[in-house]
Amino acid sequence: MSWSIPILRIAGIQLRIHITFLLLIGWLALGSAGAVVFVLLLFLCVVLHEFGHALAAKGYGINTPDITLLPIGGVARLERIPEEPKQELVIAAAGPAVTAIIALSLFVVIASRGGTDFGVSLQSGDLVVNLFKINVWLLLFNLIPAFPMDGGRVLRALLATRLSYARATQVAATVGQAFAFFFGIIGLFGVPGIYNPNPFLIFIAFFVYIGASQEAALAQMRDVSRRFPVSSAMVREFRSLPESATLEEAVDALLATSQHDFPVLDEAGKVAGILTRHDLIAALRKNDPAIRVGDVMRRDIPTVTTGTRFEEAFRIMQECNCPAVPVLDSMKRLVGLLTPENVSELMMVQSAVPRRRPA
Ligand SMILES: [Zn+2]
Repeated sequence: MSWSIPILRIAGIQLRIHITFLLLIGWLALGSAGAVVFVLLLFLCVVLHEFGHALAAKGYGINTPDITLLPIGGVARLERIPEEPKQELVIAAAGPAVTAIIALSLFVVIASRGGTDFGVSLQSGDLVVNLFKINVWLLLFNLIPAFPMDGGRVLRALLATRLSYARATQVAATVGQAFAFFFGIIGLFGVPGIYNPNPFLIFIAFFVYIGASQEAALAQMRDVSRRFPVSSAMVREFRSLPESATLEEAVDALLATSQHDFPVLDEAGKVAGILTRHDLIAALRKNDPAIRVGDVMRRDIPTVTTGTRFEEAFRIMQECNCPAVPVLDSMKRLVGLLTPENVSELMMVQSAVPRRRPA
């Protein structure tokens, strides 16, 4: 997810903070000095929640490359979506389970020191009590059965035992968007006499809506990718560059085509890497005529073959976060390119012509 800043790495998982989470911290910190400590502890609770998901995923052999903290909670990005609905259910439930344990522990602390009347202790408004309240709130919010909340994933997993994965996602995403509208309306107008308009709720509605839409798009892409071979979606007409090409030649290729990223071939004609527009521009800034395309290209690009199942290729594309994946034939010659754009074009064609069969 963009607009996020990497902060630290724990057990191979990169922790990132979304810029809006920082804004929220800043806004709360303006309130009082104690708020900063509170926010740091809250931050810890959210991280533990996300590690609940990550550890459960690890149990099924699924790694978590990064965790991003958003104002409405965290997002643990799994390297792949679990195949079995049961696995998704366990992974989705693991986060709220951690939050429930935290809330329960805090409850025990409050109950043990507060003497007889728990209700009175709850009024005190100190750090532990506030942490308890917000963890309960987090737990309830996460259990709303709508995407992108954990409850939505549990809902999809349950639906997916009866419906197709794509259909189950669609239903869960629609429920998520309905909740988003509901939050938005309440946030905007409030409930007369009960609840005042609250901009924060509009903010949450926005995130819920975006999350639900993204999840639906991802599921549709996965559904399409299951039914098609790589060769049906790859770009066949493209320019490639030799490793020894100058930056000037690369600029010519960039301007002469609509391509952003160019596969780079070594002397034997085999794929050596990919030159992205971003890397090309960065290299031009150095203003060194001796730099060759081979010096600035990305070398860590995986390749697929025409025989690779699209689903597998799509997974590779997601994992490496590559601009384009070269497609090779059985002789290891470059015959195509797979890019996020042409994958989404295939999806558009699919939704326009629903009965088209793969060739
Ligand atoms: Zn969660």
